[in-house]
Amino acid sequence: MGDSAAGLEARASLPKVGRPAHRVIAVDGSAASGKSTIGRRLAEKLGYPFLDTGLMYRAVTLASRERGVDTNDDTALTRLAEFIRMEVGPAAPHSGETCSISIDGKDVTSQLRRPDVEDAVSLVSRVPGVREALVRQQREIAGRQAMVMAGRDIGTVVLPDADLKVYLDASIGERARRRHAEFSNRGRTVTELIVLEDLRRRDQIDSERPISPLRAADDAIVIETDGLSQDEVLTRVIQLADGVR
Ligand code: C5P
Repeated sequence: MGDSAAGLEARASLPKVGRPAHRVIAVDGSAASGKSTIGRRLAEKLGYPFLDTGLMYRAVTLASRERGVDTNDDTALTRLAEFIRMEVGPAAPHSGETCSISIDGKDVTSQLRRPDVEDAVSLVSRVPGVREALVRQQREIAGRQAMVMAGRDIGTVVLPDADLKVYLDASIGERARRRHAEFSNRGRTVTELIVLEDLRRRDQIDSERPISPLRAADDAIVIETDGLSQDEVLTRVIQLADGVR
């Protein structure tokens, strides 16, 4: 698969990325594919920081809701993504989160999985200006240090020269089952069918958007995780990481 024209377009308007001196690992995948959990555990194992870029898109979405910005107003969403001061850090112990995020000095991590944010995030993240603002920050962060970064477009657009690119996938039924169990653990009551329909809707918007659609990079190692335990997937990813640099 070659670079999509849209991917190149997104890259052309951003500063050029070179191969960093330190090791960077990209973990991409569809919603509930396990990329955030596996990415975080891999980072822990390697002693690297972990950046879950999905939380950054959720943070812009949260800010848009709190400020009453319409999800169809691309200009206002772009301005918001450019002007809010977003800081990403490690997750607080026992938070069950993958990273922590503050906006303009206020920790908003606990708000990022709110159902209204979940419903709107794919609409906000298809806006080109929002993507540019966040990709710029993601590249700056990865330019400073070795790290593991998880998302949808890390291997294709954010870090095309990553040392290792992993793409995790699983059937929609398996992903719905996992996400439903995760929600139950957090005390959120919703049926598995509703979870499945929401995943399907987000996958569709994420894969069909013209800019940086969800897809595996040509040089990504694709792991189908149906029937594999989290530990089995992690072992495989650690083996791959051990094999580079
Ligand atoms: O990974 P998570 O489910 O938290 O991501 C939330 C949403 O953020 C995705 O459905 C997608 O629309 C967007 N996203 C993105 N590019 C990324 C990471 C997330 O478009 N690199």
